[in-house]
Amino acid sequence: MKYYSTNHKAPEATLREAVVKGLAQDKGLYMPEKINRLPKDFFDHIGEKSLTEIAQTVAQAFFGEDIPKEKLDAIVADTLNFEIPLHKVEEDVYVLELFHGPTFAFKDVGARFMARMLSYFVKEQGQSDVKVLVATSGDTGSAVANGFLGVEGIRVFVLYPSGKVSDIQEAQFTTLGQNIVALEIDGTFDDCQALVKAAFMDDELNRKLNLTSANSINVARFLPQSFYYFHAFAQLAAQNSADNVVISVPSGNLGNLTAGLFAKRMGLPVNRFVAANNRNDVFFRYLETGLYQPKPSVQTIANAMDVGAPSNFDRILDLYHAEHASIANDISGNTYNDDEIRKTIRETYEQTGYLLDPHGACAYKALKERKNDDEKGIFLATAHPAKFKEVVESCIGKTIEIPERLSEFMRQPKQSIFLPNDFDRLKNMLLEFS
Ligand SMILES: *Cc1c(COP(=O)(O)O)cnc(C)c1O
Repeated sequence: MKYYSTNHKAPEATLREAVVKGLAQDKGLYMPEKINRLPKDFFDHIGEKSLTEIAQTVAQAFFGEDIPKEKLDAIVADTLNFEIPLHKVEEDVYVLELFHGPTFAFKDVGARFMARMLSYFVKEQGQSDVKVLVATSGDTGSAVANGFLGVEGIRVFVLYPSGKVSDIQEAQFTTLGQNIVALEIDGTFDDCQALVKAAFMDDELNRKLNLTSANSINVARFLPQSFYYFHAFAQLAAQNSADNVVISVPSGNLGNLTAGLFAKRMGLPVNRFVAANNRNDVFFRYLETGLYQPKPSVQTIANAMDVGAPSNFDRILDLYHAEHASIANDISGNTYNDDEIRKTIRETYEQTGYLLDPHGACAYKALKERKNDDEKGIFLATAHPAKFKEVVESCIGKTIEIPERLSEFMRQPKQSIFLPNDFDRLKNMLLEFS
């Protein structure tokens, strides 16, 4: 399968080129040249299928031309070594819990898949060593570092702002060692992002190293996120309640939502989607007005969605030929401030016993406000509430337990390299690894 750039000024790429480059030369995002529809038979029997079986079928539709079936099946099975359960929260409202992976956040799915696909390119297709560079405000770094841990031929550099990520998050990517290098930058998250961008632009670095990105601009990280939309539907189908389905997605860079839109294009019978924003409401404003006006991000308690210029917006435009009316027909949105998020966590816990994290809380509230009475609603819970322990505890007035696997990270010694916010210093350090 070929991949084209959303800016249409770069040559088409193979899957491997798209994954190793991350972004196209013209700064566009790669899109698969076609989105294959899955056969009716697959949907007729979806309720009987496991997560792995479903994901293998979906993966085949995207990557089957480029990777032999038994290899691809193994990559998928190895990626999904945890459950993605659907629970009923109240009448006609279900939660898809995406946080049972190694770092307790949904990004584990894409990060693990991408690591295994890159490893296949290195081991079996003669791809030379790859360096993954990622700037993080918390969750991306932990998912990517853990997803790539111990994968041969790939070294990961996680740049994070010193003193600005939570202790749990920091422990998840600074205690690993092996092929994971944590770079503690004396600056803000924006500084880290600017350093990563400068590295991707630097000729010498690009000549000497294969540098790629592991955020959701990378097709190998973003496309696998469509797997679990089918699995959510399958779990409803198994209970004979998969009709009139609407799915609510807590949205930042819009990678997760876009993967859901791909699933719909592949034939998944979902009526429509709801995109939930925190106070960073650029996408909500676009849905309401048709005007896209990126702006600087503001800090909220749902910080993985603090995005002022969502990177996957261009993929959504491309998917709908930039027709605002069709986009607004398939997606509605909402936006919530921190007080509303806190209130939602508290009230939902009191009324249903279900404990939301701040991101899932946005999705739950948006679903409740947007869902029609005759619709079945699913919202995505993207992080375990214990990752936001202080916020969640202050909402419900109770202490919550940190899962053993999460607190285990905290007991390991921290290993990180402290760097000033200085591109030349970063560059020299990266070159030492060439
Ligand atoms: C990354 C993240 C999001 C936002 O996902 P996008 O694909 O960037 O829209 C939402 N919730 C959590 C917990 C995240 O880590």
